[in-house]
Amino acid sequence: MSSGILFIEIFQKRNQMELYKRLLLANKAWAAEKLDLDENYFDNLAADQKPDFLWIGCSDSRVPANELTGTHPGEMFVHRNVANLVVHTDMNMLSVLQYAVEVLKVKHILVVGHYQCGGVKASMTNKDFGLINKWLRNIKDVYDKHSAELDAIHEEKKRFDRLVELNVVEQVKNLAKTTIVQRAWHKGEQVHLHGWVFGLHDGIIKPIIEMPPGSPVEGVYRYDFE
Ligand SMILES: [Zn+2]
Repeated sequence: MSSGILFIEIFQKRNQMELYKRLLLANKAWAAEKLDLDENYFDNLAADQKPDFLWIGCSDSRVPANELTGTHPGEMFVHRNVANLVVHTDMNMLSVLQYAVEVLKVKHILVVGHYQCGGVKASMTNKDFGLINKWLRNIKDVYDKHSAELDAIHEEKKRFDRLVELNVVEQVKNLAKTTIVQRAWHKGEQVHLHGWVFGLHDGIIKPIIEMPPGSPVEGVYRYDFE
């Protein structure tokens, strides 16, 4: 290997290693800007959080909760995973949900999917993706439940879009099936559930489903409380 090529390789590696430094610089500029506008900004931020919203969204880097909704630090409690799933054995999601509902007393829980979701797309194929198969299985089950509707859509892009929407509908229903949400409703707390889909192509969030407090819960998924 010539010394010229070696130099370029070292330079490229160093450049990649230092990518993160841009974030730290941007952070300093952001903090300074906040202080410029309000010298008490961080005293207030550090004091407490009282968010009205819990956002359960996809991990996709193109769907940032705060930026899309014009919300600021302190306004939105956020949980994100691949394809915005509400899985009843997911201790991570359930812990976030319990804290949001019982301690923070959020008023609205938003399950936010997005068109062109890689997780949903992968679930529509027959490919073996390894470990993530188990996660995507939850979306395959949504497909199976709605296969009559989905299989009738011949254009693949439209079928994909509809599965994104149906996935959000089922995840909202999964929220309503938890004792956390049902107990809050039983106590008369005003927790609203929403299913939204974000359009990467136009930046607009489309509401798909809404379950107001006290919505009926189907069959054996309903819990009786004392
Ligand atoms: Zn996604």
